[in-house]
Amino acid sequence: MHVAIFADIEGSFGIWRMRQCRTGTSEWQYGRECLTEDVNHVIQGAFEGGATKVTVKDTHDTGFNCLTQKLDSRANYVGGHFVRPTLFGESKDYDLILYVAIHAGAGTQNAFFPHTHYGIFSDFKINDHRVCEMDIYAAALGELGLPVGFFSGEDIAVQQAQNCLPWAKSVVVDKRKEAYVSGEKSLRYLAEGRDNLRKTASEAVRNIDGMKPLIVQGPLHFETEFRNEKLAKKFNTWNFKQTGARVEWDAQNMTEGFEKLNKLTFFPKRIYPFRGPITMMMRKYFGIKSRYFAPQPNSEDAVLAVGPEVCLFGG
Ligand SMILES: [Zn+2]
Repeated sequence: MHVAIFADIEGSFGIWRMRQCRTGTSEWQYGRECLTEDVNHVIQGAFEGGATKVTVKDTHDTGFNCLTQKLDSRANYVGGHFVRPTLFGESKDYDLILYVAIHAGAGTQNAFFPHTHYGIFSDFKINDHRVCEMDIYAAALGELGLPVGFFSGEDIAVQQAQNCLPWAKSVVVDKRKEAYVSGEKSLRYLAEGRDNLRKTASEAVRNIDGMKPLIVQGPLHFETEFRNEKLAKKFNTWNFKQTGARVEWDAQNMTEGFEKLNKLTFFPKRIYPFRGPITMMMRKYFGIKSRYFAPQPNSEDAVLAVGPEVCLFGG
């Protein structure tokens, strides 16, 4: 059984502020340590649950956040973004997907770094319902026959994901600074939290028969609100229907709607034909940069629970 772990970063244990998710900063370098720890526990859980092969798909920002030299070496690692299927790349071999460190959708009040797909949108609806990333990603993966069976993140993010994936197992992660800067107490919280990641991931894999590909019936109407009109104009090179900061489009299914979303977000019309070689070059560039030119980590006041477990995995 081939289990894929899709990793975002905002919902990691240890992370409490936005800068820890921002590529290239020393706080992000600390955030990468946190994420790698979380992912290692999920890898361990996947194998305990019966996976015979595990692939980690890194997804946040440029797609190079996990510290590969500290990642459980039993797992394959795939960094960066792809064009077929859109964004995810080769996925047909997976039997189950586990999502680590997710965040709440755009427009969510009192949430940690809420956004849907990319920070340019302040609100995001499909068929008049506000969505989180799971509504889109799990449904796009669902049309490929792939079920999502696990996610971790802050409570509101987990609630939103549960609405569309009621069969999935989940772990709630504290986003308050106090959880991570309180010495012994924080170390205990991290150890328990990550042990929970391991156990819950294992349970999800063991229960694979109860996991379903998410199918959202079309036709679908996408309605996005950009942060401002200028931004909407800049990104909408595709002549999607635009009213002020609002950009809308229709699709027969999620595969088509998601491709249009990626066109709008990442590929201006004139460079779209070259997206294959461009994403390949970006994977190479950011792969090297994030590995060999990373800053020193700044954990600020946080306890660093990178202990013996990591060494066990050959880190
Ligand atoms: Zn992210």
